[in-house]
Amino acid sequence: MKQFVIIGLGRFGTSVAKTLAYKYYDVLAIDINEEKVQEISDEVTHAVNLDATNKKALTNLGVGNFDVAVVSIGEDVHANILTTLILKELGVEEVVAKAQDSLHGRILTKLGADRVVYPEHDMGTRIANHLVSAQILDYIELAPNYSVIEIKASSKMYGRSLLDLSLRTKFGVNVVAIKRGKKIDVSPQAETKIEEKDTLIVIGSNDSLEELKKF
Ligand code: ATP
Ligand code: ATP
Ligand code: CA
Repeated sequence: MKQFVIIGLGRFGTSVAKTLAYKYYDVLAIDINEEKVQEISDEVTHAVNLDATNKKALTNLGVGNFDVAVVSIGEDVHANILTTLILKELGVEEVVAKAQDSLHGRILTKLGADRVVYPEHDMGTRIANHLVSAQILDYIELAPNYSVIEIKASSKMYGRSLLDLSLRTKFGVNVVAIKRGKKIDVSPQAETKIEEKDTLIVIGSNDSLEELKKF
């Protein structure tokens, strides 16, 4: 199982750490503030009080051996940037860093962050997408212009096969899976027929997905 280190236990970091621990992953939680460390200590594997910009302290803890690190230090951009740099220098395979804005994000990418997240911005986009499209159940952004969405089958699809619907030709989207009750068909065939209450998991460019939503 992958081992995770979460640095900065604000609302975001705490939520990431607790969710992983709840799924039985090994989680090392770090914060410069002793109280934050106390608060989470019962819920994660290890909780340590230290300043993550102190390379020696992170080295001594063996942080370099972790598979994934999440830098969730917020306001202190300086500490956020230094910590990201140190984690890559220590050899952490996958470093996910939280950025305040796109300039900050670009710096993190240049320093070697493998993934940059903008929690407030990303959640805002997600919620707005849900609000305007009732049939969309979830929305995952892959790259700036591509997403995977879960969409309820529309009445026009009922009883028709994927071949017949030819969503790929019409909209340029691919149906990667179909959820039917508790079952999920992860490799739907051309002859698979859509039923009422099916949920399609569809991948495509955001523009194509917009068109599909109107279908
Ligand atoms: P959120 O929105 O997720 O609640 P935030 O964006 O407001 O958080 P902060 O509260 O500024 O972010 O930072 C998150 C946590 O990072 C805080 O608990 C803070 O103590 C911790 N932190 C800040 N600097 C360091 C550091 N150098 N080393 C370790 N932890 C740090
Ligand atoms: P985020 O984490 O999303 O960047 P935040 O959680 O730090 O934001 P604030 O910056 O405190 O939240 O507030 C968000 C916005 O709400 C601000 O632009 C602020 O001006 C506005 N705001 C705060 N109080 C009021 C109010 N009473 N009426 C209208 N707008 C308000
Ligand atoms: Ca915040």
